[in-house]
Amino acid sequence: MKLATKLIHGGPTVDQQTGALGVPIYQISTYRQTSVDHFSKYDYARGDNPTREALEDTIAVLEGGSRCLAFASGMAAISTTLMIFSPGDHLVVCDDVYGGAYRVLSTIFSRMGISSTFVDATNLAAIEAAIRPETKGIYLESPSNPLLKVTDLRGAAEIARRHGIITLVDNTFMTPYLQRPLELGCDIVLHSGTKFINGHSDVICGFAVVRDKELGQRIRYIQNAFGTGLGPQDSFLTLRGVKTLKVRMDQSQKNTLRIVEWLKEHERVTAVHYPGLPEHPGYAIHAAQADGPGAVFSFELDSYETTKRLLEGSHLAAFAVSLGGVESIISYPARMSHASLPKEERDRKGIKDTLVRLSVGLEDPDDLIADLQQAMG
Ligand SMILES: *Cc1c(COP(=O)(O)O)cnc(C)c1O
Repeated sequence: MKLATKLIHGGPTVDQQTGALGVPIYQISTYRQTSVDHFSKYDYARGDNPTREALEDTIAVLEGGSRCLAFASGMAAISTTLMIFSPGDHLVVCDDVYGGAYRVLSTIFSRMGISSTFVDATNLAAIEAAIRPETKGIYLESPSNPLLKVTDLRGAAEIARRHGIITLVDNTFMTPYLQRPLELGCDIVLHSGTKFINGHSDVICGFAVVRDKELGQRIRYIQNAFGTGLGPQDSFLTLRGVKTLKVRMDQSQKNTLRIVEWLKEHERVTAVHYPGLPEHPGYAIHAAQADGPGAVFSFELDSYETTKRLLEGSHLAAFAVSLGGVESIISYPARMSHASLPKEERDRKGIKDTLVRLSVGLEDPDDLIADLQQAMG
């Protein structure tokens, strides 16, 4: 089955009770039991809910995993999954990891004795050099945020295998439609489903997908113990959203290519970071591991004044955090996703005060271009 078909038919599509073309919202907390000796599969909805399960089964099929677990947010998925590690364990993490992941690793997991070394993951040698005897995992994002840096995921997974450790990949920017890290040899795929997977800027949710059943059991145990699972309403909305993932991604990506080509020639734009451009340093690696460059990119402007005018003056692209919605979203990494980094650290990472990130939605690209033009002046 091709992915477009899996999006519609990959998970449970029919309600067994009624034949309804979809799994209903099981808005319920507990289930009546019939036997004192054997509780049924469903006993309490912190553990199991059929609507959540339908969504989990769908995402597992899309990523090619044996199991998916759905969480109350991307951060709930990431934090719950990181609880598989123990005090004394060490992780190698890409240095431009999502800010929320950086926060839990550097302020919470570090306090519990799980330490991290942040490395430039575009350099496989740097990843391998950071591995110590107590290292248990490599945590990556490709392309990364906000500079769309590309990591060779096959190469990283190969290093992990050689050292007997696992690879975790946050696949939010790509979605399983464009990139499937399990097929590249990685062990755990994490998602903020809030972004492209749900796609309508109306749900916060997250996923962890694994190939190994035992690993799935361990994460599932923590999900139930901590109560970080996704509620039935949000599961339903996300199931509804993911059905159109292919058509949304195809169109947003097409729009992105148009806008990127236009911005490259713009007199006020000094750089464009997008793995779909042949001049991008990760172009070849990205093309070898993903089915498209996606619909998020960043670019640099000639001055802070232009940057401010653009952010405050764009009418179609909403000046907001987040990405992956049907509406375009323009964001400002220096004051949003990376605001917690000191300015010197941001500068060192290339996150300038003139850098803007755009997540391209489904508007007509001509209208988006006209809007960006009027805003930049
Ligand atoms: C948004 C995001 C997250 C966090 O997800 P939430 O759903 O906001 O908790 C994690 N990783 C990436 C790459 C993101 O963009």
